[in-house]
Amino acid sequence: MPDPDLNRFLPDWEPPQFASAAGIVADALRSLEPPQRIDVPTWAERDRRLSTPNYTGPWRNDFAPYMTEPARMLTSRKYGAVVFVAPARTAKTESLIQNAIGHRVVCNPRNVLVVCATRDAAREFSIQKIGGLIRHSPNVRERIAGKDNTFDKSFRGNMRLRIGWPVISQLSMLDIPDVFLTDYDRMVDDVDGEGSAFDLGRKRTQSFHSLGMTVAESSPGRPVTDPDWTPETPHEAPPTTGILALYNRGTRGQFYWVCPHCHEPFRPVMDRLQWDQDKPMGAAAKSAEMICLHCGGCIGPDRKDELNTAGMWLHETDDGTLVRVDDAAIRDTDIVSYWCEGPVAAMQSWEQLVLRELQARHEFETTGDETTLKSTVTLDQGRPFVSSALDLGDGLNADMLKGMAKPMPLGVAPAETRFVTIQVDVQGNRFVVQWEARGVGLETWLIGRTELSTPPEGAPDQQTSRAIDPGRYSEDWAALFPLLEQPIPVAETGMSLVPRALCIDMHGSPGVTSNAYRFYREVKRRGLGGRVFLSRGVGGQQRRDRAALREPEKENQKRGYRNRRSDIRYIELSTDDLKDEVALAVTRKVPGPGAYHISDGMPDRVFAELAAEVRTDKGWERRKPGLPNEAFDLAVMGRGLAIVLKAERVDWDAPPPWAAPVEQNSFAVTVDAAPERKPAPVAPVRRRRGIRGQRISKR
Ligand SMILES: [Zn+2]
Repeated sequence: MPDPDLNRFLPDWEPPQFASAAGIVADALRSLEPPQRIDVPTWAERDRRLSTPNYTGPWRNDFAPYMTEPARMLTSRKYGAVVFVAPARTAKTESLIQNAIGHRVVCNPRNVLVVCATRDAAREFSIQKIGGLIRHSPNVRERIAGKDNTFDKSFRGNMRLRIGWPVISQLSMLDIPDVFLTDYDRMVDDVDGEGSAFDLGRKRTQSFHSLGMTVAESSPGRPVTDPDWTPETPHEAPPTTGILALYNRGTRGQFYWVCPHCHEPFRPVMDRLQWDQDKPMGAAAKSAEMICLHCGGCIGPDRKDELNTAGMWLHETDDGTLVRVDDAAIRDTDIVSYWCEGPVAAMQSWEQLVLRELQARHEFETTGDETTLKSTVTLDQGRPFVSSALDLGDGLNADMLKGMAKPMPLGVAPAETRFVTIQVDVQGNRFVVQWEARGVGLETWLIGRTELSTPPEGAPDQQTSRAIDPGRYSEDWAALFPLLEQPIPVAETGMSLVPRALCIDMHGSPGVTSNAYRFYREVKRRGLGGRVFLSRGVGGQQRRDRAALREPEKENQKRGYRNRRSDIRYIELSTDDLKDEVALAVTRKVPGPGAYHISDGMPDRVFAELAAEVRTDKGWERRKPGLPNEAFDLAVMGRGLAIVLKAERVDWDAPPPWAAPVEQNSFAVTVDAAPERKPAPVAPVRRRRGIRGQRISKR
């Protein structure tokens, strides 16, 4: 059994001075009283008094009814910890910490340690929250005995209340039956190298066995570590550190409303709020309604209190089914945990919630700064924040990229396009092809994507409906030639641009490299040498050249051509560096030089491929082996191609003819050219010498 008189361990304890004999006897009698067997919410309605500008009178549990069950658990013998995740204005600190302190003072005097995020927060908590509790609730006030300092208060029955902050000296000193952690996600993750404040707190309560209690409450403030995570059970929270990690260790309770239309239970979460998006901000926020998950019925804000009162917490079992807290099948853990979002918050209207969201989004879209957005998502909505600005360590996120996609028709270049490139990835049974349009400052638009899997006319076995086989049949590579001649319409100009260049990745299955060389020689024979490039990626960060033309020297030496120039040149891509650049470009929020825009008409797999890799300390790696990443590779290739074309150094006011505005561009053709007419792909095709900077090798 725990030692009930812990004060004898406290070095600076002293008895209250000027105590009367009668008072001492009364105090002694009180400390001999058995703990009053009422729970925290019952105590609060009986003894707690509030005095705020809006309300003066007794505490009422029906004010924030969703807090009653969690507060009841503060006297649970089954659970050693209560974890509560919710936004601001849910009355969570009042219900779980202040009421628990009042309950201990009056019903069960024992030592309590409150841990706030910082020393300043602890001072504020003491003055505002504890000061208010004592001032307005006579039953608490009359029990003050002895010390009444900011961080240290004594009550009758040898109870001591300390208010501290997460430093190891405070969290390691004593065995304490009650450790209450408030605003947990504003605390450091690791207290002086000794572990989390929650785990250190639990150690303090351990010797009290089922009588000990650790509480942690907070809005979720930690970033999601895997933006592509999907839950495995109905209530699992995304992977983060902090309070949501504690929540996942517990019973994972979430709050449900019963729909007044179809009587089915659903979670009143932020994603179920709907508003009129065509109205200006203020009016849109006023139109906010909750939409039932099951019947789609609309629920107005006037019904929030009623639905909160009739609402219920459902927790997970070990296999993810949902039960009430007293069900024996509940998850086997000694932490009872809860999470609810902004729409249930008693002191926050839906109108405020939506207005803050809209204002924050507007700020984010106009300035690119997401501080306000993060604050409203975590503090007002009670949800973890997933940054849209890319943290390269976390990699890219398909949903985020999709959310940022632009409404642009596929196959059409925007009016400001200066040149178009094509990138080709060689797969075992197909060529994967992407078109990019580039404008001033190399602003880039991903405008097309296709896969070529049918062998071209005249290829071996072409009639047998086999798939393209780039490693086996060099003839299949002829399928790429029409791409070079196909003009891309440029919006609003009545003209089209023939692709400036095409680049093919030459790694892949056996036979691909030698067939790529064969194709390249045919390209040069047709006079297209300045427009077609082979490429090969090399990993490793901070390489000397991000992209540079190389010759396959070793092969030549092997064949005895040591002193001859190779007839083959390819682009060596420094893939890790270029992937960093592409990752930053695709997540750039505002248009302009360097931004990479994706058409929202792109198939989902393109977004998934762009997000297939994560940036590690060593470079980029696929999230899972074999995950398709063609779109990412092709964007990297496009960037390398632009570098080799010296497009980065173009003076956009005096550009070379191939990078001029469409009206003067040497690759431009008129759209209404008859389809049968062979597209006239411009100068480089006919010239013996390539365009400036791209010398065609002599054969
Ligand atoms: Zn319904």
